[in-house]
Amino acid sequence: MAPAISTIRTVTGMRRRVAQWRNEERKIALVPTMGALHPGHLSLIAKAREKAERVIVSIFVNPTQFGEGEDFDAYPRDEKGDLAKLTEAGVDVAYIPDARQMFAPGFATRVHVKGLTERLCGASRPGHFDGVSTIVTKLLLQCAPDLAIFGEKDYQQLLTIKRMVADLDIPVEILGAPIEREEDGLARSSRNAYLNKRQRELAPLLQRTLQDMAYDLAEGRPVEDATAASAFRLESAGFKVDYLEVVDPETLQPVDGVLSKPARTLVAAYLGKTRLIDNLGVKPKQRNRKRAS
Ligand code: AMP
Repeated sequence: MAPAISTIRTVTGMRRRVAQWRNEERKIALVPTMGALHPGHLSLIAKAREKAERVIVSIFVNPTQFGEGEDFDAYPRDEKGDLAKLTEAGVDVAYIPDARQMFAPGFATRVHVKGLTERLCGASRPGHFDGVSTIVTKLLLQCAPDLAIFGEKDYQQLLTIKRMVADLDIPVEILGAPIEREEDGLARSSRNAYLNKRQRELAPLLQRTLQDMAYDLAEGRPVEDATAASAFRLESAGFKVDYLEVVDPETLQPVDGVLSKPARTLVAAYLGKTRLIDNLGVKPKQRNRKRAS
């Protein structure tokens, strides 16, 4: 049986444990989550275990990254189930601070990353990335890991955290991990639990549409054309598209015309009230160069 995981709920407790590991010269990884753990989270943990000798998984359903009218209250919570999964996965510490630990009376600070956060999810969810950046900064300062792992599932979030850590000189390496999918291609997400049977059957179309779009873009179909056709396909099937864009994979600025270099397609779409996101790397096909005569 795997050894019992230790659960730490206070900042001082977490700092004490990290100081002890530092004395032992252990390499430490942090995987921040909001709980309701699924195989997507577990893939991040597996990567953390490969890269470090001690692994902390934080569970904090961060109220400041949910907007007005979003699903903070309904967000799935299952601490007991999560602890069983973390024990099984060989995690050393489950760090589960409560809101009082995170927000002392008089709390007044926000971390805001300009540029990267203004479009896409940032435009549809005002304040979301400030909430994420502020809490991730706190978790990084509390746990002081050598590295922290974030999923490419939240691609805009991953880039935002990398920017923030570089700008604030936080001494941590940020690593991305690929998207884990269900067998039918749907990106794993705690929010998939909200989908009813009909919506769940429809949901993989999001990923299939991105795949088909990647093929068309590689073949030289202009971005505007491929995007409009794909959005129409999703809307016709019953999705409400929030955004569907082909962007530069570093700056997230839109690209247009025929692809000349690698890009990323990002999508957010609603099925009923459930907002799903997904993304995929795209690149132009290497065309055979004409041989010089
Ligand atoms: P969350 O609990 O949804 O805040 O996610 C915690 C971390 O897990 C974030 O870095 C997410 O990007 C990552 N994550 C969530 N779903 C997946 C997935 N399907 N594949 C890979 N990483 C994921």
